[in-house]
Amino acid sequence: MKKVTILIPAYNEEEAIPALYAELDRVSALCGDYLFDFLFVDDGSSDATLFILEQMRQKDQRIKTLALSRNYGKETAMMAGIDYAEGDALVILDADLQDPPELIIEMLKWWEEGYDDVYAKRRTRKGESWMKRITSKRYYAMLQKTTRIPLQRDTGDFRLLDRRCIDALKTIRETQRYTKGLFSWIGFKKKEILFDRQPRIAGKTKWNYFNLINLAIEGFTSFTIVPLRISTIAGFFVSFIAFIYMIIILIRTLMFGPDVSGYPSLMMVILFLGGIQLISLGVIGEYLGRIFNETKKRPLYFIDTYNEEKVYNISDGN
Ligand code: UDP
Ligand code: MG
Repeated sequence: MKKVTILIPAYNEEEAIPALYAELDRVSALCGDYLFDFLFVDDGSSDATLFILEQMRQKDQRIKTLALSRNYGKETAMMAGIDYAEGDALVILDADLQDPPELIIEMLKWWEEGYDDVYAKRRTRKGESWMKRITSKRYYAMLQKTTRIPLQRDTGDFRLLDRRCIDALKTIRETQRYTKGLFSWIGFKKKEILFDRQPRIAGKTKWNYFNLINLAIEGFTSFTIVPLRISTIAGFFVSFIAFIYMIIILIRTLMFGPDVSGYPSLMMVILFLGGIQLISLGVIGEYLGRIFNETKKRPLYFIDTYNEEKVYNISDGN
């Protein structure tokens, strides 16, 4: 029988987990041809999440609990889960039931057809403000323009991955991960299915605008060097205009003598160039910061407990 691992990163989800488990139990019963295991990655929760999971694990053999040593964020929690997944396929699911487990049935169907990455695209986004929708839309359009790999819009991490994709993802050990882009980057045969995203059933989202901005910058700096190129091009462009203007001033001065007034234009040029220089420096800094972080070669995460028995191992690949 084929094994399917359901990976659920959970951070302070004590209210949502019982309902999620009930739903997973129901759906897995509908897919009798597969052996399921539910791999919960506790991302350093400060509430009773791990406690609840451990109690569930005592009763249900299928449950696995992987507790990280602190809160690393969802990207890293997913990576830990990917490292520990044993199934022939892996389904990544949010703990808050925003991704309906029912869709797993359809995903498995497409997997059997030979697709390696069946991802769920959001037809609607309930429980999200129009502000979030618009900014997210603009952002993906922009990111797509600057990178060659096709990105999937309105798609989260909710997807089924074949063993081949799991093994591919395991080899990518960037510390600052942008998993959404990595799914596209690894390639393989992809299939899109549509679903309606529900509002969370309990608890509240861990995202705020600051986090989102960080993730957005991560997306750019990890997948394209276009911003660097833009600052180069802007530099050339501004220098070119400045050069022409210089010639105009030179000729004018030679013909009509020096012109003392000109404070406003002087000020404008200084401020404008100053601004451009600062932005360019910032852009370079972003990339430099990434290089700095990657050169430290730290392990991505530490495990506190795995199915209760304490194992302290640095995971770098397996
Ligand atoms: N999550 C996590 N670590 C974090 C933040 C979130 O593992 O630091 C998990 C969270 O428990 C949930 C999933 O990531 O299962 C999605 O989080 P959330 O619902 O807050 O994000 P949203 O659905 O609003 O994008
Ligand atoms: Mg959510």
